[in-house]
Amino acid sequence: MNKSRVTPGSQTSLREANRARLLDAVKLHGGLTQVELAGATGLSPATVSNIVKELVSSNVLHTTHVTRSGRRAVFVTLARALGLVAGVHVSARHLRVAIADIAHTVIAEHHLPLAQDHRSDNELARTALLIADMLESVDASMEELQAVGIAMPAPINIVTGTISRSGIMRGWEAVPVAEVLQRSLNKPVFVDNDCNLGALAEYRGGALRAKEDSVYLNISEGIGAGIIINGRLLRGHHGSAGEFGHITIDERGDVCRCGNRGCLETFVGGPALIAKLRTGNRGLKLHDIVTRAVGGDARFVRAVADAGRHIGVAAANLCNLVDPERVVVGGELAQAGELLLGPIRHSLERSVLVPHDSLPEVVQGQLGLRAEVLGAVGLAIDQVSLVSRS
Ligand SMILES: [Zn+2]
Repeated sequence: MNKSRVTPGSQTSLREANRARLLDAVKLHGGLTQVELAGATGLSPATVSNIVKELVSSNVLHTTHVTRSGRRAVFVTLARALGLVAGVHVSARHLRVAIADIAHTVIAEHHLPLAQDHRSDNELARTALLIADMLESVDASMEELQAVGIAMPAPINIVTGTISRSGIMRGWEAVPVAEVLQRSLNKPVFVDNDCNLGALAEYRGGALRAKEDSVYLNISEGIGAGIIINGRLLRGHHGSAGEFGHITIDERGDVCRCGNRGCLETFVGGPALIAKLRTGNRGLKLHDIVTRAVGGDARFVRAVADAGRHIGVAAANLCNLVDPERVVVGGELAQAGELLLGPIRHSLERSVLVPHDSLPEVVQGQLGLRAEVLGAVGLAIDQVSLVSRS
């Protein structure tokens, strides 16, 4: 339909607006009964029923009959003619799983905390079960699942699907992550570094859109970067490009988990920050540091600002090497916003070798803590489309 012919306020534009509102509600919740849809959109049950019928016949929506509180109901989800994918983000302390269709629409999402001493075999088994449960929750079957993408917080050899450097992720070394999950799900599984996938997601649909030379920093328990050059991810020869957290800040500093001395992570990684602020704050987590800093607690504001200054020194070095147009800061600590971004910007102003009016912009990620899992969804979709094209 030619959109320019739709007059605002006309019956046609009202129908289109109602259809968009209903589709947004289905996308947001993954699946709803028609009664719930009426509640979520404010549309009358009759209007919901008519729009759903129309969108089922044009293959946009899918309905099944279910029983809710003893009554029959029509359950509405997105049509999935092309199948589904799952994205998984394993980070030091969290597990996130998303189920999406091939058009990148997430239809179900789940987030769990991980224990500090979690075991890789238990977590991979739990991930497989979670994917099966989530498929069931949106009335989909395992047959519809085409592929799985996994984002791991470590350098990855994408040929073997294993972590390519020891010391970075205790308990996960030499674990063929893709192979293990592939065995339990019987589906193709692809794995990449989480910062690479976060960068990819921000580049495709977030703060790095159309920024062909750009950098994504993830500042969480661990610290890493995804580097985009000429619109492509820079992976490097061993898959370890972008190990930003292991840039040397002080060559006589503390020994890092990677075996080097004085890495950026030994100053501002999650464990280092927590150790600095632990006195009087037992059980402190990175998330609490952000909350306390945003709440104006002076010690925490100072710790985040100092972290920003250290990150800025390392980021300035990175900018002088790759000359990006924009630096996007994501991860847990980025939730502190300008408290972290301001000092990073200040370091860049002092040390980046480009004219002052063309310094790289430093902005917060648009996708928040979901960037990596959305990147994992993107990785799975890319692989499915590659297979279907060949
Ligand atoms: Zn290190």
